[in-house]
Amino acid sequence: MRNDPVQRLLLGHESFKRDYFSSEAELFATLAGGVHEPKALVISCCDARVVPDVILQAEPGDLFVMRNIAALVPPYGKGHHRAVGAAVEYAIMGLKVRHVIVCGHTMCGGLRALADGPVKLAAHMPSLAEWLADADHLYNRVRTSMKDASDDELVSHLAYESVPVQLENLLTYPAVTWALERDRIELHGWVYDLKNGALKAYEPESNAFIELDATGRPTVEFSVSPVR
Ligand SMILES: [Zn+2]
Repeated sequence: MRNDPVQRLLLGHESFKRDYFSSEAELFATLAGGVHEPKALVISCCDARVVPDVILQAEPGDLFVMRNIAALVPPYGKGHHRAVGAAVEYAIMGLKVRHVIVCGHTMCGGLRALADGPVKLAAHMPSLAEWLADADHLYNRVRTSMKDASDDELVSHLAYESVPVQLENLLTYPAVTWALERDRIELHGWVYDLKNGALKAYEPESNAFIELDATGRPTVEFSVSPVR
């Protein structure tokens, strides 16, 4: 019974309620009292290994999180992909978050699936194929520019290629441009590295990713800059 995954989850919840919930009683009472004032909207991947609240050590109530396969932001009004738009609009106009963060990650299975091509995926995962079709041009661009790269190198590079494109797509949302024009939000593009737990931030000025310390100062310049 102890190895049953659901049983383990329920035991985890029991421990959460007994220890964390009771020790943070004031915080949870505030949240239950109707306070919902997250500091940031985080758009990240569904990947079970990359949990925004954990890698940022955020408290309940801090982050408004929208997770989807490969942390994509489809351009505004695109087909059936309205879940991202709904989260973006509500976070900015309703919750008035000050920061919008797109957080991709290395070794992303969603980006790796692009290597198979949406057409091949469509046979058994049609919804996934349709979702990833938005990012297909990204894969083709990187494949062309990195002809000799292995699949692993390609997928790793794709994470850094994808984030700036998703930031550009955010600019197609009227709520985003409205808030930017009024200095109400800042956009951030990050990539989380599964191998060492590092977080690298995109710098539009240099079109490169840099590792930041807690004060926002760069610590390590990352040599791979997005292909343009
Ligand atoms: Zn992923």
